[in-house]
Amino acid sequence: MNIAIIGTGYVGLVTGTCFAETGNHVICMDVVKEKISKLRKGVSPIYEPGLDSLIFKNLTTKRLNFTTSLDDAVISSNVIFLCLPTPPGADGSADLKYVKEVSEKIGRILNENSISDYKLVVTKSTVPVGTADELRDIFRKYSNARIGVASNPEFLKEGNAVQDFMFPDRVVIGVDEPQAEKILRELYEPFVRTGAPVLVMDSRSAEMVKYAANAFLATRISFMNEIARLCENLGADVEKVRTAIGYDNRIGPKFLFPGIGWGGSCFPKDVKALIKMGEQASVETAIVSAVNAVNDEQKKLIPQKVKKHFGQNLAGKKFAVWGLSFKPKTDDMREAPSIVVINELVSAGANVVAFDPVAIERAKEVFSTGKAAGLKVTSSKGVRKYGKIEFAKDQYAALKDADALILVTEWQEFREPDLNLMKKYMKEPVIFDGRNIYNPERLRELGFVYYGIGRR
Ligand code: NAD
Repeated sequence: MNIAIIGTGYVGLVTGTCFAETGNHVICMDVVKEKISKLRKGVSPIYEPGLDSLIFKNLTTKRLNFTTSLDDAVISSNVIFLCLPTPPGADGSADLKYVKEVSEKIGRILNENSISDYKLVVTKSTVPVGTADELRDIFRKYSNARIGVASNPEFLKEGNAVQDFMFPDRVVIGVDEPQAEKILRELYEPFVRTGAPVLVMDSRSAEMVKYAANAFLATRISFMNEIARLCENLGADVEKVRTAIGYDNRIGPKFLFPGIGWGGSCFPKDVKALIKMGEQASVETAIVSAVNAVNDEQKKLIPQKVKKHFGQNLAGKKFAVWGLSFKPKTDDMREAPSIVVINELVSAGANVVAFDPVAIERAKEVFSTGKAAGLKVTSSKGVRKYGKIEFAKDQYAALKDADALILVTEWQEFREPDLNLMKKYMKEPVIFDGRNIYNPERLRELGFVYYGIGRR
């Protein structure tokens, strides 16, 4: 099949590359020229395990192409996937401006070129319930072409995106006509050979599936974070509680890990968008609203613990931060809890030295665009300083003369560090473990002061 991917970001690039890998001809389009020229050379603009080699392979076989021309992408394809951003608007609702603008342009392009073949436009972006219907209206308004609309929410996890796409738990297809169903079933057939179901439903239900799934996962984490706070205050250990409830078949062990709050490009915006959808439909979303509020508080928990140990004024203190991306195995900094943690520390006068295996460049972008308060960039003789934050070249360099270590993102390389070396480098052997990855007893035996989340 000839496929166009509009929006070549985390979702679009993985989707396009995986469809090319199964033999389709794919053209990925994006408005960012630098991204497209990098990709044409086989260089991935994002960090995603296993993706680089697949891009390179499919580029070489010419099944995968990249362009900045929407016209070329639309005209040469039968199926057009929208993988565009749907960021939160000022009121929390999903902003559909990219999706709507591009849809209008697609309608015009097909009309102006008098294209009569059937084209299927598929939303892979996470969009509010009713968006497929809105897009049908847009296409009717701007085009006489035969355009089908389908919803195909994406469930890949950054850091494991290629695997997730190649071996999905399920494929959800929201369609209102048999032709669209036939095309999407055929396209996904190679990915569901091991028995994963293809769930076909109306487009409104498919759109809701994605929000319900993300809100439910966020709920599990926020629930455990609330239980962790209770454990801490009542003298129980949340790790023991988590393990024990996870053995209950009705509950299961996944997404029960307490920590410093969820972030990333999906949960925060999707939870807010669901609350907004509830408001617009006059349906109270008490659970989802509480999940969001608990998370906002949770992100501030580690800075609160730091201040309890060192005092409210952190001037003259230096903190090492391990991990910046919102989770391991990605360089994605969107809504990363590290931003809140670093912000709070710097606002209280502290200096921060951070290290992350892959996200430092993206973190610099975040801190230099003013998204983190108090981190103004100064430029002098070609040296960029990020206010009170420095970026270390490795995890141990970050520890030199640090008053404490704050573990924010649980990358594998942080799990079994050289504790003796750490103690040697640090001014004070204090660890704030935001992900409960260390053994408190062992650390205390070695003379560390240890703070976890909800642990005795
Ligand atoms: P992203 O920001 O990484 O990618 C979006 C891409 O669209 C960017 O490369 C951007 O340059 C491009 N773009 C913006 N305007 C454009 C235009 N007019 N024409 C062409 N390209 C344009 O975003 P993402 O993480 O890939 O997410 C895309 C959608 O998929 C969102 O709705 C998101 O909620 C959803 N989603 C994301 C994930 C995830 O893990 N990232 C998972 C499932 C669903």
